[in-house]
Amino acid sequence: MKNSIADLALFGGNSLFATPKSTSNLVRPDIEHFLAYSKQFHAQRQYTNNGPLVRQLEKRLAAFHQTEYCVTFCSGFWALVLAISSLARKGKSEIVMPSLTYRRMADIAAWNNLKPRFCEVDPHTLAMDRASAEACINDATALILCVHPIVNCCDTEGVAALARERQIPLLFDAVESVYESQATGKVGQFGDAEIFSLHASKLINGFEGGYLTTNNRQLAEDLALMRGFGFKQVDHIAVAGGMNAKLNEVHAAMALASLDDLEQQVARNRARYRLYQSLLQPIPGLQLLEFDETQATSYKNIVVRLEASWPLSRADTLRILHAEKIVARPYYSPALHQKAMAYAHIPADLPATDKLSGEFMLLPCGHHVDEHDIRQIAALLTMLLQHAASINQELEAA
Ligand SMILES: *Cc1c(COP(=O)(O)O)cnc(C)c1O
Repeated sequence: MKNSIADLALFGGNSLFATPKSTSNLVRPDIEHFLAYSKQFHAQRQYTNNGPLVRQLEKRLAAFHQTEYCVTFCSGFWALVLAISSLARKGKSEIVMPSLTYRRMADIAAWNNLKPRFCEVDPHTLAMDRASAEACINDATALILCVHPIVNCCDTEGVAALARERQIPLLFDAVESVYESQATGKVGQFGDAEIFSLHASKLINGFEGGYLTTNNRQLAEDLALMRGFGFKQVDHIAVAGGMNAKLNEVHAAMALASLDDLEQQVARNRARYRLYQSLLQPIPGLQLLEFDETQATSYKNIVVRLEASWPLSRADTLRILHAEKIVARPYYSPALHQKAMAYAHIPADLPATDKLSGEFMLLPCGHHVDEHDIRQIAALLTMLLQHAASINQELEAA
């Protein structure tokens, strides 16, 4: 345990952990399940092109989200790009999206030749809401891209009602809310479609991959063609804008094995979250973002607000933690409208987003973080608080 600031790795001590403790989920499903699924594609000698495991996965995911259709892709990124290209109103140039969000979201707009019109977030949910989206709508709006925050959900109903009234297509990026429910139904059913990721860092690990859920049959059919070059028959291009964005069979095998393990994973996540909750509660200046347990939730990420009374800056806190091999991350920071961008975008003045993007950090979670790790992380944070004055002095002197 670290008792004096000389024990801190940033000041020359040994790091608390030998291997990095990350905020990536990296869930590892049962190898036997993965191998059993993999033996199916091996026996059938079908490795890709809408094979039996991909079809099985799509069926299970549609049932999981209680939607009629699910279409898988090679990544969440390309699922977003293709869904936007199908749904966006033609001849319009802007896409409404939050700025406090996924780091590559503006690239996704650029692939569709759309300019992001960044909107504010509600300081309580850290997400876009009806009012902030409405303030960004104009004659050029092609689509609303509503993104769920890392903890809990955005105001799904409010944004959906706005999109219906104004007749603007609405796509949800629900990557962070795979397992969540709303009072009105499971995430996956809202808007024109919802997008999810199967990246190893997300709740359902397919190594890489993504999928879309929808009740719109035409959209599902078009996207199933677009992900495979737009081919309907040999050399007959049925839809424009096609590319190769298919999921393959081995990724589907991994995702199916992860789905088999999902309930156990959520139970493990809940245990980690409960421990963080009890250990962080007595530390003044750090406020854990709590999951809304009145609805289904995955308890996946540990997000903490550094309050004004926390005596170290976020940047210094992160530097100290990183030296200890605690790979804590700033929450969606800097916000997208503050980043240098090579492509077209609309300058935005977003004071709430600016403030919020400096206040939060993610602490280690997921499959490689155990109870002992969490106790050590909490003890270190307590130690930082106690020694904050001398830490700040030391940092100023350096
Ligand atoms: C990870 C992520 C994506 C992209 O998913 P990939 O499968 O990694 O391409 C999109 N949106 C959000 C909110 C994400 O966290």
